[in-house]
Amino acid sequence: MKKLLIAAGALLAAESVMAGVYGDVPDARHAWAVHDRNRPNPVKVSAEPGRPPSDAVVLFDGTEESFRRNWRHKKVDHKTDWRVVDGAMESVKGAGYIQTKDSFGDCQLHVEWASPVKVEGVGQGRGNSGVFLMGSYEIQVLDSYETDPSKDPNPNPNYADGQASAVYAENPPLVNASRAPGEWQTYDIVFHQPIWKGEQLVHPGSVTVFHNGVLTQDHWEMEGLTTHRKRRPLAPHATRLPLEFQDHGNPVRFRNVWLREIPSRYTNTTHGGPAANEADVMALRRQTAARLYAKIDVSKMDAPTLAALLEVVSYAKEGVYKEEMLRHAYAYRDFLKGLDGAAQKARKSEIIDMKRMVDTLQQGGVLPPTCTLAAALNAICAANGWK
Ligand code: MG
Repeated sequence: MKKLLIAAGALLAAESVMAGVYGDVPDARHAWAVHDRNRPNPVKVSAEPGRPPSDAVVLFDGTEESFRRNWRHKKVDHKTDWRVVDGAMESVKGAGYIQTKDSFGDCQLHVEWASPVKVEGVGQGRGNSGVFLMGSYEIQVLDSYETDPSKDPNPNPNYADGQASAVYAENPPLVNASRAPGEWQTYDIVFHQPIWKGEQLVHPGSVTVFHNGVLTQDHWEMEGLTTHRKRRPLAPHATRLPLEFQDHGNPVRFRNVWLREIPSRYTNTTHGGPAANEADVMALRRQTAARLYAKIDVSKMDAPTLAALLEVVSYAKEGVYKEEMLRHAYAYRDFLKGLDGAAQKARKSEIIDMKRMVDTLQQGGVLPPTCTLAAALNAICAANGWK
């Protein structure tokens, strides 16, 4: 043991034994420690300027082919079609709503739209269309460039909860970020659908909208399904439904439509948040412990092996993990007791690292306050004035 630990000491002079134990340890709601290096890194996506992210579903790229492939008219007996003109899809009076052929749930959605250059109509009759999330929640599209009736020329006064970027009939935009008729405008939307357990509403869902890059809906929690005059409460619906654009009789154009599906907050059951579930957290912690333990050669009696076993028990402290950790911890404790002052100093960084690791595990309740390895490490550090 002593010979092996001395060999390890040479290695440890350059490298900490602290790998795998950081500022804290996993707990009943969090499968990972703070800054946990074992936690998987996020999947990489490319995000080139002016291009949809690489993981986006492109719903309209400016071509007739893309329009026909991704969209259909909602009304079966429509008399006319929406049309593709100058790289944009345009609403045609009487054609009715269009909807995606695919269905979606929670999403990030990018839409560019323009109300007609030729200003016609008034109020809800001017440049009206709409982005209907899941066909059920409308983000209003309207010519809202000038809503002040005292302003010239040609204002379009309106009710606040019906102007561009409103959650229609529910919540006005925080500010009016509208551009002039005919100019291209952007909506970037983050949408979470309501969560139901049978007929019981668990969470109303939310919608966040950036209109031309300006925050206009700040995590608005929906109160109802899109309605036009009377309040209509939320009601359960399928968890995936088509995206729809409205035909309101005005030739509104859309282009560069893409969508990224995003996970519901309620699918995260292993790391904090509203749906953290202890059984799922512990299952993932045991998985991590098993993965790490499989890499350890427990026949090696040295400090890195002990450190690796301490890392394992930070995730799951049971059965063979605990037995092997204790066997190595007692051996290391006894080894420390045999070191004279000079030998302790030669191992200063190793001992301090091990103390930090053991302290963290004690603070996290993984090792008991009575841990005799902790006592041995504390005694050496106190005697040498190491902190
Ligand atoms: Mg509308």
